[in-house]
Amino acid sequence: MIDLHAHSTCSDGTDSPRALVNQALIQGLTVLAITDHDTVDGWDEARSALRLNLELVLGAEISCLTSSGTSVHMLGLLFDGDNSDMRVMLEETRDSRIPRMIKMIQLLNAADITVTMDDVIAAKPVGATLGRPHLADALVKLGLIKSRDEAFQGLLNNDSPYYVSHLAPTPEEAIKHIRKAGGVAVIAHAFASLRGRILSAEDFEPMVQAGLNGIEVDHRDHSGLERAELRSIAHNLGLVITGSSDYHGTGKLNVLGENTTHREEWEKLESFANERRVVRS
Ligand code: AMP
Ligand code: ZN
Ligand code: FE
Ligand code: FE
Repeated sequence: MIDLHAHSTCSDGTDSPRALVNQALIQGLTVLAITDHDTVDGWDEARSALRLNLELVLGAEISCLTSSGTSVHMLGLLFDGDNSDMRVMLEETRDSRIPRMIKMIQLLNAADITVTMDDVIAAKPVGATLGRPHLADALVKLGLIKSRDEAFQGLLNNDSPYYVSHLAPTPEEAIKHIRKAGGVAVIAHAFASLRGRILSAEDFEPMVQAGLNGIEVDHRDHSGLERAELRSIAHNLGLVITGSSDYHGTGKLNVLGENTTHREEWEKLESFANERRVVRS
């Protein structure tokens, strides 16, 4: 079982990188990718926790914004984590998440929803990429909502009046950086309409020009119809098809290995990296 998208406490997951690797072993995965939001901080710990025959793919889920302001997540896998342009791109996005959070808190406060930056920081593991899930956790702790899920269905979703975006590369910029760093680029949950504004079929062409390698088709947030459409787009553009869980520990309902990638698709994807970077114990 191959799962190419999972989060740890280095972003908004609730399992440490070590616990994530252990969970992959328990679930019987053969390949796991660690893909925290805008960071490679979990790589070393995940690598050191590897046991048995599990193979580890080091990656990151890069937050992007299209020129028309649609939020897109790009999975970068198998890239050189020391590549300086990649590091700068990830750092700039992480930095801009701080003023963005301050603005969201100000909007909430103006609506008499009392939460502070201190509450959010207290809800976040040290060093983790700051995100809305940590704000959700703070609101849960204050007794203002029941769960992250409730937050994302209302107060904190992309269409809410309290939503603020942060600086981010365009999908094409992210793809170019990933590919220059030797890795492969797979667009995550592209048609997840529940998350707000989504892409349309024409949006993939410039990404392919920039070097896109694959489309995440099998994902919990895609309906059967959305999967069928994405599968056909991938087929027409000659892109690899992946499936993955987008596991976040107890932070989301997603179970590790609930969607997986076929071995042939994975082998094709891996062959596009400039070096064999899969980690084995
Ligand atoms: P941000 O990156 O700060 O904009 O926050 C978006 C993150 O929130 C995404 O990466 C999702 O993984 C997470 N998220 C979205 N919907 C939910 C949900 N219903 N429950 C928990 N986390 C969610
Ligand atoms: Zn997340
Ligand atoms: Fe995502
Ligand atoms: Fe994700």
